Formats: sequence, structure tokens, C-alpha cells
Amino acid sequence: MTAPDDYNVIMLPFPGPIRACVRINGDGYPTVYINDNLCPMAKREALRHELGHFARGDFYSHWTIYDVEGKKCHEKRSEYFPETAGV
Ligand SMILES: [Zn+2]
Repeated sequence: MTAPDDYNVIMLPFPGPIRACVRINGDGYPTVYINDNLCPMAKREALRHELGHFARGDFYSHWTIYDVEGKKCHEKRSEYFPETAGV
């Protein structure tokens, strides 16, 4: 499990429905950017979700973003981009 000293969290008001995103720093640890417009519970869930990607090594896998996000991501993708439904 990632310890709190191993990652940074930055709260920013994101436009639109994006909850959070993450980037890997030069030291190999993540910085998680969380939408400050979310409620506290959604912020915690977004942090847990993004750290899960780091813990599973998703950033270094051969899987695409759609693979690692799974079915839920496919549903959201078709919601935002209806032309991709069923792809
Ligand atoms: Zn994700």
C-alpha cells in the first residue's frame, strides 16, 4: 500500500465531470489531482481510485486506459462520446 508520504495530493476545481487524474513524478511516486468541486466522500473515493492504479502498476502495463478502467469506463465513455457506444 502507498503511504501518505509517498504521494502528493493537489486539489483543483476541474471543469466538467472529471473526478481526478494522476501523474507519476520523476521520483516514481504519484501526484494525484482531485476535483475540488467534489464532496469530501467523493474526494476520498477519487484518491483511493487513483492510488489503486499506482498500486496495481497500471501506468507501466501494456493495457490501455479503457482496459484498466474496465466496464465502468466503457459505460462512461459511451455516455460522453455516444459515437463510441459498443466499441
Ligand atoms: Zn481510473
